[in-house]
Amino acid sequence: MPSNSTIHDTLIVGAGFTGLGAAIKLRQAGVDDIVLVERADRVGGTWRDNVYPGAACDIPSLLYSFSFVKNPSWSRAYPSGGEICAHIESMVDEFGLRPHIRFNTEVTGLSFDESAGVWTVTTKGRKKFQARTVVLAGGPLADHKLPDIRGIDTYEGHKIHSAAWDGDYDFTGKRVAVIGTGASAVQIVPELVKTAQSGKVFQRTPGWVLPRLDVQMPEAVQSLFAAVPATQELARQALYWGHEASATALVWKSPLSSLVARLGRAHLRRQVKDPWLRRQLTPDFTPGCKRMLVSSDYYPARQRDNCKLIDWPIATLSPVGIRTSDGVEHHLDAIVFATGYDVHLSGPPFPVTGLGGRSLQHEWAGHAEAYKSASAHGYPNLLFMCGPNSGPGHNSLLVYVEGQLDYAVAGITTILKNNLRYLDVRADVQGRYNEVIQQRLTKTTWMSGCNSWYLTADGFNASMYPGFATQYLRQMRDFQIADYTAHARSESDAGVALDARPRVVTSTA
Ligand code: NAP
Repeated sequence: MPSNSTIHDTLIVGAGFTGLGAAIKLRQAGVDDIVLVERADRVGGTWRDNVYPGAACDIPSLLYSFSFVKNPSWSRAYPSGGEICAHIESMVDEFGLRPHIRFNTEVTGLSFDESAGVWTVTTKGRKKFQARTVVLAGGPLADHKLPDIRGIDTYEGHKIHSAAWDGDYDFTGKRVAVIGTGASAVQIVPELVKTAQSGKVFQRTPGWVLPRLDVQMPEAVQSLFAAVPATQELARQALYWGHEASATALVWKSPLSSLVARLGRAHLRRQVKDPWLRRQLTPDFTPGCKRMLVSSDYYPARQRDNCKLIDWPIATLSPVGIRTSDGVEHHLDAIVFATGYDVHLSGPPFPVTGLGGRSLQHEWAGHAEAYKSASAHGYPNLLFMCGPNSGPGHNSLLVYVEGQLDYAVAGITTILKNNLRYLDVRADVQGRYNEVIQQRLTKTTWMSGCNSWYLTADGFNASMYPGFATQYLRQMRDFQIADYTAHARSESDAGVALDARPRVVTSTA
């Protein structure tokens, strides 16, 4: 038996942007019996963990924030990770969420009791929780791992991953390598080379880089946003539609994709004068296929006297550094692995047991799929945030999350208000939805031949939503109970009038 016999209305896993957003929206919808479990001792998710020098969002915060949590005081267009984290902390107090959060509580498994209509959530230690509904908001980029490079364990210098920064290590005067040239690396490299004796950047694939048009937010603008919130909303809308328009270049290959490539090459030409280095930094894939990089200081940093680009493949790590396939041994005091995350393409990093003992890990081991990214057949009363095929390639992730929040609130309130035992998405509905998604994906840039974390090892795309944010939001605002089978708690509840005439099956348990 769980040590805590309370059955909560909703349990939320993760207290990052998304989990806190779910708590705010649910409370606004009248669901107050909520518990948030968080494995760390602070809120903030990926923004709490990514404290590497230069960490900042590459989407302007006026758009990379929730529309229902106004912050007129953003200091810049692209604020630092620290400022974003402080904003997330402020959400907790503004919306009175602290009493709902259980810190230092890492989930180890979820299992659904069909007869009771209750999820049991086990955590490290002996504490268990029970809840009628669960929101999984652990985030797709919550876990990192060192890459599988030969000899990695033999290296005797300092190893550090971008997502687990060691703030105590002093890079001053050190010989440092950065492996990787993705979104994290282009932020880290310009900062590291300011103090390191030397910086070597090990590049496997050059990415498309566009300039970052960062500006300080004038006080007058902050005051205007505070006094007339509609002006901030207007600025957000302008950014939203600007990003939406970019889908025509980044999501689908079109003449506008060539325009983005031209912009990228112009940025490179303007900032890098050496033709050989320009050649080394020129990407050879369709813009959008991998995440676009946004930086105005990466190329200049790359040309400092103490910074060197190495594009020979890494053969092995050795006790003293990195050996490349041209036979050169690079002696290093520290290696920074900006090599990405252990992305949860096959579900959360703990077992989830659904109806009839089915295992989500097992079912998603091949290819993850859900209905509208939010519900998976056989796992009732469970709502996914950033679930399968919900990722954007051109707009703010939090715009998509807002759609998921609307959908989760509609599902959870339907269950609670109608006192349902469970609501399970229909297999046929989920199957048809995913056929269309996979068919639409074939026409996107993500499937145009590059290698990215969006795809599984066999090339399946369970990450991205193939469309405009506006289309995604429209589908998420349309919660149709007829897409689900609804199971009543008892005979007497079986006749309850549900909004959209679902199939109500009476419990026989
Ligand atoms: P990433 O985009 O996956 O990039 C990893 C880099 O490491 C790539 O250049 C990759 O090369 C290289 N790499 C991986 N394994 C390697 C190996 N064994 N040997 C040599 N090179 C290797 O990771 P990330 O830069 O941490 O970014 C991940 C995601 O985090 C982004 O896509 C974004 O969604 C998010 N992020 C967002 C922001 C923001 O500002 N909002 C900032 C940072 C990160 P290949 O390209 O050849 O695979």
